[in-house]
Amino acid sequence: MTKLDVSSFIGGSWIGPGDGARDIENAVTGHVMARAGNTNIDTQAMLAHARNIGGPALRAMTFHDRARMIKALALHLNEHKQALYDLSFSTGGTQNDHLIDIDGGIGTMFVFASKGRRELPDGHVFLDGDIEMLSKDGKFLCQHICTPLQGVAVHINAFNFPVWGMLEKLAPTLLAGVPAIVKPATATCHVAELAAKLMIESGHLPDGAVQFVAGGLGDTLDHLTCQDVVGFTGSADTAFMLRSAPHILKNSIRFIAEQDSLNASILGPDAVPGTPEFDLFIKEVQREMTAKAGQKCTAIRRILAPQAHVDAVIEALKQRLSKTVIGDPQAEGTRMGALVSNAQKKDVLKKAAILASEAERVFGDPDNFEINGADADAGAFLPPMLFHCADPDGAERIHDTEAFGPVSTIMGYRDLDHAIQTINRGEGSLVASVITHDPQVAREVAIGAGAFHGRLYFNNRDSMKGSTGHGSPMPHMIHGGPGRAGGGEEMGGVRGVMHYMQRTAVQGSPDFISAIGDKWVPGGLEIEGPAHPFTRTFGELQIGETIHTAPREITVEDIEHFAEFTGDTFYAHTDPDAAKRNPFFPDRVAHGYLLLSFAAGLFVEPNEGPVLANTGLDGLAFMKPVVAGDSIKVRLSVKNKTPRNQDYGEVRWHVTLSNQDDELVAEYELLTMVAHNRER
Ligand code: NAP
Repeated sequence: MTKLDVSSFIGGSWIGPGDGARDIENAVTGHVMARAGNTNIDTQAMLAHARNIGGPALRAMTFHDRARMIKALALHLNEHKQALYDLSFSTGGTQNDHLIDIDGGIGTMFVFASKGRRELPDGHVFLDGDIEMLSKDGKFLCQHICTPLQGVAVHINAFNFPVWGMLEKLAPTLLAGVPAIVKPATATCHVAELAAKLMIESGHLPDGAVQFVAGGLGDTLDHLTCQDVVGFTGSADTAFMLRSAPHILKNSIRFIAEQDSLNASILGPDAVPGTPEFDLFIKEVQREMTAKAGQKCTAIRRILAPQAHVDAVIEALKQRLSKTVIGDPQAEGTRMGALVSNAQKKDVLKKAAILASEAERVFGDPDNFEINGADADAGAFLPPMLFHCADPDGAERIHDTEAFGPVSTIMGYRDLDHAIQTINRGEGSLVASVITHDPQVAREVAIGAGAFHGRLYFNNRDSMKGSTGHGSPMPHMIHGGPGRAGGGEEMGGVRGVMHYMQRTAVQGSPDFISAIGDKWVPGGLEIEGPAHPFTRTFGELQIGETIHTAPREITVEDIEHFAEFTGDTFYAHTDPDAAKRNPFFPDRVAHGYLLLSFAAGLFVEPNEGPVLANTGLDGLAFMKPVVAGDSIKVRLSVKNKTPRNQDYGEVRWHVTLSNQDDELVAEYELLTMVAHNRER
């Protein structure tokens, strides 16, 4: 049988295995099927290529350009995913496991592409939060901005999800504008290589944006600088070894770690046998133990049930687990495939033996189980193994040993406090779940355990249909956890992009802040356009383009008419004596909505033109009441612009209403869709 040569993509060329190459085993047959690694890779040239070619090319693009690139990559991978499925069977996974890895990874790219266009500007600077006023006269401000790091992201991935693991890191990195060097785990790097090849050969990536190292990284990490980031996923031991290297520490090189986790799931005190929650719990636990043969960083390792129901849970789990057909993932009927390698199987058995010192194995005999369509002695097969720990308080190893396979331990709890204390003994996890129909149980767990877990997952009869599963990190949510889980965070939508950017506090005058952020701030330069802004197309409008309207006086008749017309006869608008008794008002006052309507009447240009629709209003505040006899005038300025599609884009206007004494009456941001062309 010919062996696959897994190549690295360095400096724009593919380089095959060479000195120091390692063998890769087919998880199902145990045969060596590929080899990867080459100690002759020029790591300095690789870093230089990313920093000097990839980085500048990515930074020249806007967030929206990069989001479109990520979408194009996702579409390309989606078109070619059958090839990825076919190759992935050699890692021991079933078709359902491939869906998590391959479709999950592509889906993550789509979410980042879409969030990039909706939540990030079509520019080069991300504004983090609002401006902070630093002087009384409004002429000295602060704005936090984020700009891409000018180095390279080195991604070191675990073996279990060769595609998702690569894409969930690549999407936020590329969106930030930072080039990446991807180093997958060697055991499954042939699958990662195919996905990388598809992306690189699609032509959607600028030169130097993504390089790929099959095998070892050599001395790469010794040459990183403060502009580089390491994104690591794997075991706590490897993370510790890499992140504690003097060069990493001395240069404060960012190190994001996702590592071991003793995730737990609690059966709520209310979820007694016979309830939909009990059945749901059994289903979730069984799925987490068997999906990807338990090689999921989020898998449930510790199962907690009310003491009185432990036996019932064991019985129900035994029944469900006994129906799991284990074997060749391509054989008819197989539900759980092999572990990634015989070395991994050995490691799981070693860890299971440690668990056995504190718990009794109540299901799954690794020396005696049926295999569907494969050679039990050659492939890396194991049955699901359930342990019961009768004394979780006295136990130690149950709470610190991760058997990275289909292994979990059940234990009883006395009351909810005890359950919370027990799950927190994992010293930091990626996810803890609670299956309960009682919102108070959820609240207590959130408050008592939130600080120890990166994600809390609550599920019950009402949410189970749409729920995403205990073990599924979603791109919208952060993935990571404190302590043992590595102390890192990934994904979480735009939050994940920020790991690859530098946050900088910028101080200066409104003009400077407006120019840097490409977003007008009050006090910034007001530009007088050649015509009314509502007659100008999306492209013609300039940031800061402003009109000031003539004043309009508010009369008692206006207020009474508005009250009668709308039905808003609230006493402050209709009863002068009652209004005066109110601490906020000097007299009967104009309705806030009347002022907004008059403001629109003052600033609109009525004829058909590029402004298509008013789509909303943000941050409305009424600052000073308006009484009959006062007059109001409006300032309308283009705050910022966001392209939406080929026909139109969103223009956000900053609007202030002030009175005859130039006192601020109201302030808000008006959202409109404005066409690119006048003709339709
Ligand atoms: P691992 O042995 O720690 O390896 C992780 C990665 O580190 C691999 O790419 C490995 O490459 C690389 N590596 C090892 N030594 C290195 C060195 N000296 N320099 C640079 N890179 C080095 O972990 P694994 O066995 O692949 O994965 C299983 C573990 O990952 C489990 O503990 C699991 O909990 C954890 N995990 C965590 C998450 C999470 O998101 N928190 C997700 C998945 C898995 P080679 O393969 O070439 O050695």
